[in-house]
Amino acid sequence: MDAKNTPVRGTGGAADPLVVIDHVDKHFGDLHVLKDIDTTVARGEVVVVIGPSGSGKSTLCRAINRLETIDSGTISIDGKVLPSEGRELATLRADVGMVFQSFNLFAHKTVLENVTLAPMKVRKLSKKAAETRGMALLERVGVADQAKKLPAQLSGGQQQRVAIARSLAMEPKLILLDEPTSALDPEMINEVLDVMVGLAKDGMTMIVVTHEMGFARKAADRVIFMADGRIEEEAAPEQFFGAPRSPRAKDFLSKIL
Ligand code: ADP
Ligand code: MG
Repeated sequence: MDAKNTPVRGTGGAADPLVVIDHVDKHFGDLHVLKDIDTTVARGEVVVVIGPSGSGKSTLCRAINRLETIDSGTISIDGKVLPSEGRELATLRADVGMVFQSFNLFAHKTVLENVTLAPMKVRKLSKKAAETRGMALLERVGVADQAKKLPAQLSGGQQQRVAIARSLAMEPKLILLDEPTSALDPEMINEVLDVMVGLAKDGMTMIVVTHEMGFARKAADRVIFMADGRIEEEAAPEQFFGAPRSPRAKDFLSKIL
């Protein structure tokens, strides 16, 4: 095996694995977008995924939530292998919160309704219980005073905090955040990152695709660097940023830092 195909391993070997990604491959037609992805995320761990555009970060997130199928390998969450379809998939998917770059709030529902709909429908919470929980979550992300408004009346940073509250409302075992601050005006980035740091401190298991290196240094237990569909390097943030080992990581960091 040449050096290019040997990922540099860091702090693998999780004691209490929540997500196990086992030799996953994925193609889009002729394009090989995930190449032998093999890693584990422990319960309570915060993993930051970085890498150049097109390296497969979003596809990996979507595969973990089965918004994308995979060609081979397995992904399991809390000991259960993700099936490709069916009722069991819906149950497992509800365990995984997902926050996208583009907020994806329901435009014609109020902020509070955005946070209460899924718990009522999927978790069968009463409206009252869902609203109580919803208000507490909106409080936690600092937008409780916006509860009766429509998403479009909020700033981008507020909308993204609602999106985080909405994913928390399902009490997921894991939250995936795919470039959650990339669409935000600079002055709103920190209010969202602060909420994410709070979640990390509270012990939430998180996989975060981001180029916010301050967040990675502050909150990540591990950084996964992807390039060209492959995990090139995994390491604790201080090691990764201080002394990246793979040439591609060095090159990437020299461009963004
Ligand atoms: P990243 O999030 O790291 O920028 P993506 O996972 O979005 O990368 O994309 C990885 C590669 O897969 C890119 O070359 C992209 O163009 C391609 N790709 C992503 N989604 C699709 C799709 N639905 N159909 C075809 N190609 C896709
Ligand atoms: Mg992406």
